[in-house]
Amino acid sequence: MDKGYEPVIGLEVHVQLATASKMFCGCNAAAFGHEPNTLTCPICTGQPGVLPVINQQAVEFAIMAGLALNCRIASFTKWDRKNYHYPDLPKGYQISQYDLPLAVNGWVMVETNAEQKRIGIRRAHLEEDTGKLVHRGDHSLVDLNRAGVPLLEIVTEPDIRSAEEAYDFLTKLRTLLRYLKISTADMEKGAMRCEPNISLRPAGTNEWGTLTEIKNLNSFRSVRAALAYETTRQENVLTTGGRVKRLTMGWDEQRNITFPQRSKETANDYRYFPEPDLPPLVVQPEWLDRLRSQLPELPDVVKARFVVDYGLSDYDAAVLVADQAVARFFQDAMAACPAQEPVDRHAQAKTISNWITGDLFRLMNECGLAVEEMRMTPAELVGLVNLVRRGAISTGTAREVLAEMVKQGDSAEAIVQRRELAQISDQGTLEGIAGQVIENHPGEVAQYLSGKESLLQWLMGQVMRTTQGKANPARVLALLKEKLEAKRSGQP
Ligand code: ADP
Ligand code: MG
Ligand code: ZN
Repeated sequence: MDKGYEPVIGLEVHVQLATASKMFCGCNAAAFGHEPNTLTCPICTGQPGVLPVINQQAVEFAIMAGLALNCRIASFTKWDRKNYHYPDLPKGYQISQYDLPLAVNGWVMVETNAEQKRIGIRRAHLEEDTGKLVHRGDHSLVDLNRAGVPLLEIVTEPDIRSAEEAYDFLTKLRTLLRYLKISTADMEKGAMRCEPNISLRPAGTNEWGTLTEIKNLNSFRSVRAALAYETTRQENVLTTGGRVKRLTMGWDEQRNITFPQRSKETANDYRYFPEPDLPPLVVQPEWLDRLRSQLPELPDVVKARFVVDYGLSDYDAAVLVADQAVARFFQDAMAACPAQEPVDRHAQAKTISNWITGDLFRLMNECGLAVEEMRMTPAELVGLVNLVRRGAISTGTAREVLAEMVKQGDSAEAIVQRRELAQISDQGTLEGIAGQVIENHPGEVAQYLSGKESLLQWLMGQVMRTTQGKANPARVLALLKEKLEAKRSGQP
């Protein structure tokens, strides 16, 4: 029986490390948004007679990434030249790491469709970036600002089984890199680049099919779309009796298709050899221990803590920890909750989590704000939540107030007072209004009393209209029922 084919996917991810200077020279490594060729020197432009110097910060960032990816960090690692000719590479070679990478044999847990899956990390090594070619009609320009910027290349095992899983892996990796603060990991700005390798095999077998590699992908979404397309393309080749060719494919963003670019190069084509101008790198245990002790609490640990400490669901916790600043905002909000009040802490956590991942995320999105750019503090959000809990404002009003808090940066109390939004809960006031409504609508009241129960909602609507929505709905409902029942039994 034919069970069809399953995709086998491995990713090569290049991450631009957020160091102040480049990998082997003192030039500014902030390669984005500067005049072309202004961040260069004789070293990164490949002038003869110059010598590279290793950037310690880049090595430390790479080790931190290796640790977070559960890799073994090599105690002895070295540099190699990867030789090829291209106009964006003035030296004619790229300094990289070939047979002794800095980090090997790691793994990452990735959640796809509510299932945890372990994706192996084959290796992570340091290298330098190339320059950039800018194509202008009949000519091309070379910008070497990016040449020599430190890159971490992370190579996964071929453990990924779908385009969706690749997407989820990249999302998890980006979160990790941002927690470590070693890269902006922004794929749209080129700070993270991904080249997926994909082959197909009969489902349920351990065969290795012929792979293609896909290039020019500049968003997570393109990676997913390209892999989905390539899965179908290879499937069609195989089911019609053809053979997949080992190729490097391009991705056409407009037409949403992959296309053959060139035959895939192999290591032999690059004539790797040890870099003669740099000493090998020895990673002493003390150095490694210091870096390990400096690692922040990583997302999976924070998530587990949120589930245990606050009783959040796995899902809610995952949404909160996806962004470190959001996780911190939530935690600070929990810390700002008045401990002496008799509230169920888990219920409180759920409420605050709901406000953050619901209305707050929507508002941040609308305003184009990240949580750390927002003027509203965690304590101010708690202030709003408490107003709702005490019945001072309705949930609907709270939504409006939150929008203003985010946009204007005032406290909930101040906004409620200034805009006179406080809910009317005063029994005497509400009684007067409810009585008035009943008196003014004898027809509807009579219909209600003769069995048309839906008119209770209508009468309630009248009260809300009179009070511009500020009446406490639970109290109004109780009052109306009470008064109508009194009428039914003939009481005055
Ligand atoms: P290199 O690029 O050094 O030659 P490989 O081509 O073996 O190394 O691996 C590069 C990437 O391709 C890795 O992410 C690996 O997981 C993936 N890969 C290796 N074999 C396959 C395969 N048969 N199908 C899909 N991906 C593969
Ligand atoms: Mg490769
Ligand atoms: Zn330089």
